[in-house]
Formats: sequence, structure tokens, C-alpha cells
Amino acid sequence: MRKYMIALAGTILLFASSSWAGAPSERLPKNIILFIGDGMGVAQVSAGKTVKGTLQLEQCKTAGLLTTHASDAYVTDSAAGATALAAGIKTYNKAIGVDPDKKPVKTVLEYAAEKGKATGLVATCTITHATPACFAAHVDDRNKYNEIAEQLARSPVDVMLGGGWGYFVPKSQTDSKREDEQDLWAILAKDRTAIRTLEEFQKLAKPKKLVGLFEAGHLGKADSRTVTLPAMTAKAIEILAQNKNGFFLMVEGSQIDWGSHDNNSDYAIMEMVDFDDAIGVGLDFAKKNNETLIVVTADHETGGYSLLGGSVAEKTVTKTAFTTTGHSGVMVPIFAFGPGSEVFGGIHDNTIVGQKLIEYVK
Ligand code: MG
Ligand code: ZN
Repeated sequence: MRKYMIALAGTILLFASSSWAGAPSERLPKNIILFIGDGMGVAQVSAGKTVKGTLQLEQCKTAGLLTTHASDAYVTDSAAGATALAAGIKTYNKAIGVDPDKKPVKTVLEYAAEKGKATGLVATCTITHATPACFAAHVDDRNKYNEIAEQLARSPVDVMLGGGWGYFVPKSQTDSKREDEQDLWAILAKDRTAIRTLEEFQKLAKPKKLVGLFEAGHLGKADSRTVTLPAMTAKAIEILAQNKNGFFLMVEGSQIDWGSHDNNSDYAIMEMVDFDDAIGVGLDFAKKNNETLIVVTADHETGGYSLLGGSVAEKTVTKTAFTTTGHSGVMVPIFAFGPGSEVFGGIHDNTIVGQKLIEYVK
């Protein structure tokens, strides 16, 4: 018996030391890229796969499902959904980085910045919109875009790419979306390269910090965007990877949601394909880098979308149906790749994303 106990203790010690030394699957990620497909349910992913044949995200060998309900509703909105992904807590619909008592909750991006990591937000909507806002702003209502812009301008975020410069320029300027004369663009530009056009984007060297907002409001659809989501993703990674402490980056495929709200299958699929191209950019970096965790998930499903006809051989989806112009309460898929990815396999609540990512960053 004693001999057995000693052998057992030895085995436990061996296990403990091998995980301490960092078996490949148990290493902590130095960099994290979180891809959020807004409104991306299993049907949106399925449609994207039909059209593309093989999705980039299929390189993720960990897959699972997340429940998405809000603290005050069975069906979540993007604000409560993104707060769960960013901060690991359940909150009410419309909450931006605050708990049900409207108290600010620290997000994975803020923990990362505190640890000296570089941070970035990339979206195809305005950067003040619910999904990106939840990572670096704290307000009780997602519609307070002016206030969100004020917080983002003073946030530690090193790279911001997307739309919405209108929220950062004084009211008196053409196409401003502000209700006051604050010049937040000047604050952003103080220690960041600040640009608004494709020409400037193409001429960029490798600045330390970058804000590129290419429309006063949202960016166009995937087929008409001046600066594409894959291009913004590549530039963000290139800049953030300069930081020796690593980085946290959130990339949102914002308009999968809008195509689905419109019950416009072609629009949703086009955005899904574009989002998957951006995921491919992240995965290419992660495969070379080895210290990067990629997580791909959604805040909720939109449209109650279903696929009823098509052809795998011809890569077409020909018959679809939507059960709502709003969001649905079905679980959303999650895919992960790289160190720390295994915990996301299986069925969990969406709060696991914020909780685990914060744990990794801390
Ligand atoms: Mg969104
Ligand atoms: Zn939506």
C-alpha cells in the first residue's frame, strides 16, 4: 500500500510538473484575437460554408456552443452579449460594460492594457457601436454614442479601425454626429496616427498606435467597403504584434447581424464570407506565432435563419427562411485555436469567454 501511495504521489508530481512546464495544450496565450460575428448562428456559418466550400474557421479544432441570454431577457441584444464576452458577466440588454446595477465592470481589453499588452478594436460598423464599445467603454445605455466616443477617445486602446469618425469631431463640422463642440479627434490624434481615407491607409508605415475611421457613420457593405475587414485585421495585428508583452484584439464582423435583421440571405452570407476571410488572416498569424489564441464566436443569432435548399456541388444556397427580423435565443457556435483553446469545447454560457480570457490575460 505504501509503495502504491509513493508511486501515485510520483505520478501526480509528474503530471503537475509537466503542466507547469507547459505542455503545448496548457500553455497560456501571449496574444488573444477574439472574432465576434454579430448575429452569427449555426445557419449563417452553414451558409458561408456552402458558398465557400471550406471555411477558414474550420482550422479551429475546438468547437462548442454558448447560451446567450441576458440578465433581464431570454433573447439578448449585442450590448449584453458583448459585455458577457468582454467582461464575463451577465447583464441587461443595452448595457455597455456595466453590470445589472449599472456599475462598470473591467474588461479583458482593460486587463490586457493594464498588463502592458497592446490592445485593438476592429469593426465594420461605427467603433462606438455596442459590440466594440463593450470592450473599452462603460455606459448604462448603448445609444449614448456621444458619451461612448468620449470614453473611447480617452481609453488605452492602441488600434481602432472601422467607421464612426462623426462621433469624434465637433458638431459644427460637416457630417459630425456629436451634440457638442468637443474635438475628440484631436485627443485621438495626439498619440496615435489618425486617418480617414483608403489612400492614407495604403500609405501607412507601421505606426505604434493607429486610429482609422473610414466613414462618418458605419462602413459600407462587404462588397463596397473602401478598407476591407481582412485588410484592417492584418494591419491591426501587424501594429499590435510590435508589443513584446503581447496583445488583445477584438475583430467584429458587424453586418452579419444586419443582413439577418433585413432577412436578406445574400447580404448575411456575403458578410459571413468576408468575416471568415478576416478570421483566416488571424489564423495565418497564429499558425506562425504559436503563442496566439484565436476565439471565434457570436453575441447571438439573428433572424431565426434556416437553410432549406441549395447545392453543395454548385456552392449555392437557394432556399432560406427567417422566423424573425430580430434576434433569436438559440445557442451560438464557438471555435478556438491555439494555446488555451480547449476550455471552449462543449456547451457553456457565453460568460465563459470573458471569464477565461481575463484569466489568461491576468
Ligand atoms: Mg455588433
Ligand atoms: Zn442585431
